[in-house]
Amino acid sequence: MNILSSPRVEADAIYSKVVPAGDFWLHRIQRGQTLRMVDLEGNQAADTLFYDASDPLNRYSACDTIQRQGALYLTTGSVLMSTRAQALLEIVADTCGRHDTLGGACSRESNTMRYCHSKEHMHACRDSFLSAIQQWDAAMNKRDITCNINFFMNVPVTPEGKLTFADGISAAGRYVELTALRDVMCVVSNCPQLNNPCNAYNPTPIQMLIWDA
Ligand SMILES: [Zn+2]
Repeated sequence: MNILSSPRVEADAIYSKVVPAGDFWLHRIQRGQTLRMVDLEGNQAADTLFYDASDPLNRYSACDTIQRQGALYLTTGSVLMSTRAQALLEIVADTCGRHDTLGGACSRESNTMRYCHSKEHMHACRDSFLSAIQQWDAAMNKRDITCNINFFMNVPVTPEGKLTFADGISAAGRYVELTALRDVMCVVSNCPQLNNPCNAYNPTPIQMLIWDA
């Protein structure tokens, strides 16, 4: 956990958008630009994919990122690595302190397994990811959805190696900031999850801000 506030002020941002819970966000971030994601009401899960903007096969890799930094969770100083061992972005500020690399995104299948069969129809992050990548390139499909980051999610690993979806440690107004080290496409599914006690069954909006280098 490496809590660090940012010197950037909102008035200087070149872009600002509030993404409602359950919606997705697809945006290109140029090398040198900085993206801030703000957890507006606290303990929201911002499920995120990153791709090299010029080569979608070169994409965020959880294993390469974990290996490179020697830690399971992301915070200030973490460098997000791609499947081709290239640095995509670096976390340059973080007022939450913990972001999950392992939990994955919710799907209709996982909702059915984790909660009950009657949840099968509910919209899930994997549906949002699919809509977003097809908006980018209609040729992309399910196979292009690989590892994701769950910003603001607290998913501790027990000594036995089990994942636990614990109460969040984020709060209203906490944020994470990433500077792009190459041109990247960012896909965020602002989780629609209505079954999860960690957000008090109440998914909330997040804000996206971008600053030029
Ligand atoms: Zn989700």
